[in-house]
Amino acid sequence: MRVMWFGHILKSIFQISSKMDILSHLTIPSPVTLLKTPWTEAAGIELYLKRDDLIHPIISGNKWRKLSGIFDHYAKSDYDSITTFGGAYSNHLVATAASCAILQVPCTGIVRGEEPKNENSVLKICRLYGMELEYVSREAYKESNRTEGVIQRVLYIAEGGAGKLGTIGCHDILRETDTSSIDKIFVACGTGTTISGLATYAREFALTSEVCGVQVLKGDGYIAADLEQEYGVEGVTVYDEYHCGGYAKTNEELIQFIKKFTRETGVLLDPIYTGKMMLAIHKLCLNGSIKKGERIMAVHTGGLTGWFGKSAELNV
Ligand SMILES: *Cc1c(COP(=O)(O)O)cnc(C)c1O
Repeated sequence: MRVMWFGHILKSIFQISSKMDILSHLTIPSPVTLLKTPWTEAAGIELYLKRDDLIHPIISGNKWRKLSGIFDHYAKSDYDSITTFGGAYSNHLVATAASCAILQVPCTGIVRGEEPKNENSVLKICRLYGMELEYVSREAYKESNRTEGVIQRVLYIAEGGAGKLGTIGCHDILRETDTSSIDKIFVACGTGTTISGLATYAREFALTSEVCGVQVLKGDGYIAADLEQEYGVEGVTVYDEYHCGGYAKTNEELIQFIKKFTRETGVLLDPIYTGKMMLAIHKLCLNGSIKKGERIMAVHTGGLTGWFGKSAELNV
């Protein structure tokens, strides 16, 4: 009994200090860049980019923000390992794999679909970091991917790092940034966890900026509904018409826009999330929803490993 208790204290001390250790691997606070392109000039807006893509090359953007709160929780409790879920190109799986390697936390990734003959580059990187991978059928995955909680000292994290714990670290995106002169803050939304964190923080600290989301999945207003029902968040604007065909779908307009934007700014966007967010900002300037003189801050949530699954689209 005594040995167990002592072991528990040692483990807690070790884990709390290791959460500090990971910060020396990350660029936090992330910088903010003012961007100029012909279309921002034509629209007469100021476009700032919160560079969460620069936090770490693999633990990208909002995936770190979400994991940050989850690791704080992990360190305070008596867990042995982490298990989480993702598709074959999941930014969340690879971010979890890299973070767990730094913190020396054993981790398992449950991957949607049958095991392929050749694993893709993202999953190979997960294994490089020491993540165990298990494949499950799409049907079984559908039933389990939202599992959150504890089973036999294993901390289960839902797909994408979704959930209340995940929102807490997202507060830091705004906490570390002066938004007093910003009219609108934009972020890409998948599960809505990140925007929920931003909106909660904005309300708590009475920020004057409007929080806007760009939904990257098809489905009328589902993020707005989720935000109200699951997180109790209201008063955000969610645009649901800029998904370019659906989740992880691209179209020629999106790819051409990203190519042009990258050349004009030197900032690479990803094809699944931030490219769609930026295309939406551009279109909202054109249709007058974003007005001359407005100051916009877009969050670059990272996700650049998404290109591993989309390189064929660049042939257009
Ligand atoms: C996962 C992800 C998002 C979506 O975040 P949610 O919290 O699920 O809404 C946005 N951008 C990038 C780059 C991502 O990887």
